[in-house]
Amino acid sequence: MARRRQLYEGKAKILFEGPEPGTLVQYFKDDATAFNSEKKGTITGKGVLNNRISEYLMMRLMDIGVPTHFIRRLNMREQLIREVEIIPLEVVVRNVAAGSLSTRLGIAEGTRLPRSIIEYYYKNAALKNPMVCEEHITAFGWAATQDLDDVVALTLRINDFLTGLFLGVGISLVDFKIEFGRLYENEEMRIVLADEVSPDNCRLWDSKTGEKMDKDRFRRDLGKVEEGYQEVARRLGILPEAGVRDLKGPEMMQ
Ligand code: C5P
Repeated sequence: MARRRQLYEGKAKILFEGPEPGTLVQYFKDDATAFNSEKKGTITGKGVLNNRISEYLMMRLMDIGVPTHFIRRLNMREQLIREVEIIPLEVVVRNVAAGSLSTRLGIAEGTRLPRSIIEYYYKNAALKNPMVCEEHITAFGWAATQDLDDVVALTLRINDFLTGLFLGVGISLVDFKIEFGRLYENEEMRIVLADEVSPDNCRLWDSKTGEKMDKDRFRRDLGKVEEGYQEVARRLGILPEAGVRDLKGPEMMQ
């Protein structure tokens, strides 16, 4: 394989220059971090599973007309994506109280919220991704009012659709984080879903038992972390064909 230029290395993914202008290759690592990188570890096979789960969820979302950066999966750990200008926001949607919302507001984990709540966090690791509101976002020019309107409309559609999709396989979508980017095509700009949608960024609980099947198993030392991710893939019907034995996947080539 030809040597590729690495453009960016994040906590869970690496971005390489793509084969054509305007494309990138997104590589999924097994590395895991939590609490603004204070906790670090490895979840064996996570990259393979998240690549597959994110592909599946983005394809289903594209089926209902949600624009995304996803083009196609290339192999066990890589997918081809469109290069976008990332809006520096982590958009969090909550359906059930958990995590930082429970801590901040003293609402017991598991309490169903009166309606879905959207929160914004400024993507800045040095500042530990602080929570911000619309006023900050538009005043500091991170997104224009029209961009933010598009982000909210897409986020609500994504939440409605994914809530139903997961419920169909016995999983409650408690909350999740997504990111958006600006895609420039033929002098036009569109806001599209970017990054990934996977158990790294979602809280997924078994809808009957409440068992956690997401990164909280790693964050909270609950054990059976790999099994949680595998169970999500299994229920979605997309566990890699070779089975769990091969989840380490091919080594990265540069
Ligand atoms: O920690 P908190 O309760 O605010 O997380 C809300 C949701 O956003 C969770 O699903 C979590 O996985 C996700 N999240 C994330 N990346 C962050 C912070 C939160 O994916 N940096």
